[in-house]
Amino acid sequence: MHYGLTISPTADATSSDTTIIAGGDVVTMDSSRRVLVGGSVVVAGDVIAAVGSTAELRAAYPQAAVVDATDCVVTPGMVDAHQHLTGDPLVRSCIPDLIASGESIFQWAVPIHAQHTADDDQVSATLAAVECVRNGVTTVVEAGTVAYPDRVAAAMVAVGIRGTVGAWGWDIEEGPFVGSTEEVLDRQRAVVEAHPAGGLVEGWVTLVGHDLASDELLAGASELARKLGTSMTMHISPTSSDPAQYLARTGRRPVVHLDRLGVLGAHLLLAHGVWLDDEEIDLILSTSTAIAYCPWAYLRLGQGVTRVGRHAEIVERGGRVALGCDASNAGDLADILRTAALAAGIARDTRLAPQRFGAHQAFELATIAGAEAIGMADRIGSLEVGKQADIVVHDATGDNWTPRGDVAMQLVWGTDGRSVRDVFVAGRTVIRDGRCVTVDVGELRLEAQARQRSLLDRAGITVPHVWPHVDAR
Ligand SMILES: [Zn+2]
Repeated sequence: MHYGLTISPTADATSSDTTIIAGGDVVTMDSSRRVLVGGSVVVAGDVIAAVGSTAELRAAYPQAAVVDATDCVVTPGMVDAHQHLTGDPLVRSCIPDLIASGESIFQWAVPIHAQHTADDDQVSATLAAVECVRNGVTTVVEAGTVAYPDRVAAAMVAVGIRGTVGAWGWDIEEGPFVGSTEEVLDRQRAVVEAHPAGGLVEGWVTLVGHDLASDELLAGASELARKLGTSMTMHISPTSSDPAQYLARTGRRPVVHLDRLGVLGAHLLLAHGVWLDDEEIDLILSTSTAIAYCPWAYLRLGQGVTRVGRHAEIVERGGRVALGCDASNAGDLADILRTAALAAGIARDTRLAPQRFGAHQAFELATIAGAEAIGMADRIGSLEVGKQADIVVHDATGDNWTPRGDVAMQLVWGTDGRSVRDVFVAGRTVIRDGRCVTVDVGELRLEAQARQRSLLDRAGITVPHVWPHVDAR
C-alpha cells in the first residue's frame, strides 16, 4: 500500500508551501460538476492554485511536495451546518434512548451544559472537531449552545477546522446563561467582533431558538447580524411543539411570526424546519432563508421527518439547504456522508420517487450547495482555483470501493467517513493516513473520560443502563 506524504526530492525551501495532490479522481463540484479521472489539485499556502491534468500540473509545479492520491477519490471538504460542539460530546450515548425529546433536552442536555466549565467547553469542542474532520467535514456551524465561545474557537483553531461560533442566546426567565435581551445581544456582538468574518473561525449571532426568546431578542439578533454583516442561526420546529407554542403565544406559526418580526432572510440559517406548513415553506423560499437539515437526529428522536419533512421539496424548489449531524446524542456520528445517504433515502422513500433526489444531489448538499446555504460558497464547497484549500482524500481501495463504479453513488451510497485518508483545511494537513496530526488524540481520550465523570457528578446525574452492567474485572 502506498500511502502518505512523499516530499519530492527536488523540493526546496521556496516551494515548501506548495503541494500537489496527485493522481486521484477529483470530484471538483465546479459549475459543470467535472470529475477529473486521475487528476490533480495544487495547493499554494491556504488556497487552491490549480486543478487539472496530473501530467501538466506535475510539469508546471516540479518542486511541489507530492501527496500521492493514486486509487483515491479527492473531494471538497464537507459542510456540517448544525453541530453542537459542547454539551453532548462529553456525554455521548449517555442520555437515555427511550425518553421524550423535551425531557432529553431539559432533564439532561441543559443541566449538563450548565455544569460545563471553560475547560470542559474547550475539551468538548476539541473532541467534536476531531471527529468532524476525521470524517471529512472541514467546515462546521456551531449550533448555538456554547457558554465559552472564545475557548471553543481556540479548540477549533488548534484542531484546524473551519467554522462558526456564537454565544448561548436566550432571554427566558430561568436556565443557564440567561440574561436580559440587551445582555444577550451584547454577548452576541462581542463574539462576532472577536472573531471577524474571513478568519478560520468566524462569529455568528446564535440563539437557542425554539420558543425560548422574546420577540425583542429575535428581532434584535437578526438586526445585529445584518448590521455586522454576519449570519445568524437558531433552532425551529424539529417537532410539533414549536408550532403549538408559537400558535398559543402569538397566534401565528413560527416561521410566519419570524417573518412578521423581520427576522427571515439570506443571513438566517434555521436548524431543522421539519414541521413547516405550506405558508412557512413559501416564506422560507421567498426570503432565501436557509435550513440546516439533520435527518439522523429526527429519526433517532422520533420527530416525524418521514411523515411531515419536506426538505427535498425545498431543495427542488430552489431553496437553500445544508446538512447537519446535530449532537452526539441526536444523530450521533458527525459524518456528513452518512447523513447525505439518509437525506437522499428519505427524499425517495417518503415520496415513492426513485427517480428523484439521488446521490448526486445529496453530495451537492454536503459540499457546494451546503456552502452556499451557510453563505460561504465564494470560499469553500468546490475544488476550484482561488478557493480555500479544504480538501478530502478518500482511500478508494477498500472492499466497499472495489470495484469502482460511479463516483457520486459510491461516495453517498457506498461509503462513509471511514474511507477518509487525508484532510486539508486552508492548506494545512489535519488528517494524514487516517490520523489527526494536530492534536494528541490519546491524551484527548483520557481527558474526555475524566471530564465526563466529573461533569456527571457535578450535574448529579447517574447514567442508567437498560442492561445490567456487571463488574467482571
Ligand atoms: Zn441542535
